[in-house]
Amino acid sequence: MITAKATIDLKAIRHNYQVLNHKAGKQSLIVVIKGNAYGHGAVDIARALPQAERFAVARIEEALELRMAGITTPIVLLEGCFCLEDLAIAAEHKLETVIHNETQLLHLEQLSGTHKVVVWLKIDTGMHRVGVQPEEARDYISRIHRSGNIVGDIGFLSHFSCADDLLKTKTLKQIELFYRSIGDQPGPKSIANSAGILLWPESQFDWARTGISLYGIAPQSNHQGSEFNLLPAMTLTTKLISIRPHKSGEPAGYGDSWVSRRNTFLGVVAIGYGDGYPRSASNRSSMFINGRSVSVVGRVSMDMVIVDLGPDSKDQIGDEVEVWGKHIPIETVAKSANTIPYELVILLTNRVYRETVG
Ligand SMILES: *Cc1c(COP(=O)(O)O)cnc(C)c1O
Repeated sequence: MITAKATIDLKAIRHNYQVLNHKAGKQSLIVVIKGNAYGHGAVDIARALPQAERFAVARIEEALELRMAGITTPIVLLEGCFCLEDLAIAAEHKLETVIHNETQLLHLEQLSGTHKVVVWLKIDTGMHRVGVQPEEARDYISRIHRSGNIVGDIGFLSHFSCADDLLKTKTLKQIELFYRSIGDQPGPKSIANSAGILLWPESQFDWARTGISLYGIAPQSNHQGSEFNLLPAMTLTTKLISIRPHKSGEPAGYGDSWVSRRNTFLGVVAIGYGDGYPRSASNRSSMFINGRSVSVVGRVSMDMVIVDLGPDSKDQIGDEVEVWGKHIPIETVAKSANTIPYELVILLTNRVYRETVG
């Protein structure tokens, strides 16, 4: 019997792409499918979006997997290449690289051979993670041109640090600084992530990069994708594998962290932190069984979670349990587990069976 299963709805992905494409205004979309498309299956997502003009991943291995699968769409390596050999491979496979430090610039200058490469320059407008300082941009631009190793115009990227927070004016400052640093340059420009697309119309340049929202997930905590007309692409389900009567006053699970206040039925659900279900959801989250929400009680174990089915339970062993999806928004699970949905989708382990529909 298949228990823990992530069902990926490609219809939802295509719907979300349309919604985001519309929201992005005149911008084109860079579809971010790093981390195996946030756990949704990078090759499946890429194939579901033949109209996508660009994809983006974090590491060269992720891009090569897509190329091996026959995906010919341009792919941006969001953090660029980390050594000269990789840069040569990127050039050969028509991957677009990012330059955010001097080491990467030196590699571009050293690149020899027949292949040239598409280059994006990353500007640090306030995230202070990677990116060249705005005042260094001119120098980088002239050295990139002088290298003679680039294809087309230099593209420009920056990244928001607080775009999920509508009350922070920092985002507007980042947009302004981005514009001031490279606004007069001819190449394509991109600053918006999902939060930028959905919440900051001021962030529109030529390209917007959408990750989390493509999967139907809100970029802000305390919100849900449905508020933006997005559909959850992943439904995580599993099965009830045991049901037993439980007496009031008795504990359940490791550490006796929960004690029942009534006579009830406890259900055991085949999922645990060994599947990527967060242990921090112990005693806090809910699951959906036979038309209702039931509470996770006791500690999440490696392979099992206990739920309180209530004294009137008519549930049967083998019944399906929604862990997150339409009825239990992943944003709510993330909040009860004190984390963000990004982490939940990406931490699913390979024990979870993945199925694509639509
Ligand atoms: C992951 C990533 C994105 C996508 O961000 P979302 O919040 O998932 O939309 C955009 N840009 C860069 C540089 C990233 O690393």
